[in-house]
Amino acid sequence: VPELPEVETIKNELSPRIIGKRIVDVTLLDPKAVKEPSPEGFRRELKGKTIENLNRRGKYLLFHLSQGKTLIIHLRMTGALLLNNPADRYVRAVFRLSGGDQLAFVDRRRLGILRLTDHEEAIISKLGPEPLARGFTVGKFAQRLRGRTAPIKAVLLDQHVVAGVGNMYADELLFRAKIHPLRRTDSLSQKEIKTIYLAMRSVLHAAIEGKGASVDTYKRPAGNSGTAHIEFAVAHRENEPCPVCGTPITRLPVRNRGSYYCPRCQRFKNDRL
Ligand SMILES: [Zn+2]
Repeated sequence: VPELPEVETIKNELSPRIIGKRIVDVTLLDPKAVKEPSPEGFRRELKGKTIENLNRRGKYLLFHLSQGKTLIIHLRMTGALLLNNPADRYVRAVFRLSGGDQLAFVDRRRLGILRLTDHEEAIISKLGPEPLARGFTVGKFAQRLRGRTAPIKAVLLDQHVVAGVGNMYADELLFRAKIHPLRRTDSLSQKEIKTIYLAMRSVLHAAIEGKGASVDTYKRPAGNSGTAHIEFAVAHRENEPCPVCGTPITRLPVRNRGSYYCPRCQRFKNDRL
């Protein structure tokens, strides 16, 4: 599942290849992937637009186009963007670019979303802050957590709290912070919040260095895999020994999401309950 480091890698690797190019034609093999406007309007309005910039916000890719339009792509569970790599049976849309390049949107489970809008703020402004932004201090993180009674794992996954953290990296950062995924958020001490904050930043930075994690279907635009999952301590490692203490990694549902953790390194304590 593409999270912040995977989407950031896609942005970084696509940008030098597509910025400045014109969209010559769009083929929609799965019109249902388009949420806004109509599939026909989507094709018609994209044709002839130039890609002026490519940005990421949370897990969204924002293609800034000429005439103030933005193509927003949310890859969700199994979406990927492949450049000149059309031999994929799950291709849902193909963007033909000036110069002959082809950008394909592929999506096995068909949950990804394409939209073309003049009002990207309507979607993006609801997101919480970027966890790696320079101005996102531990104080601001603590403010976002304040008064929340849900388990910390669920709060980290809430895109209104911070944008871009998903299931894999929430598990990894809680392991590094030695915090049980079910800890009630309002039971965390200031010291624990700081530990979580630092773990979040270092886990995300390391995953960007590793060009994302290919545990499932994630592919980089050239069709190759990332390497970030090689460093995973707990995520998708059920029954493997904890790299710190050797205890088997356990899987536990937290609000319907499988959470991987070490029952010894991440002991449950909840002083205020
Ligand atoms: Zn352990």
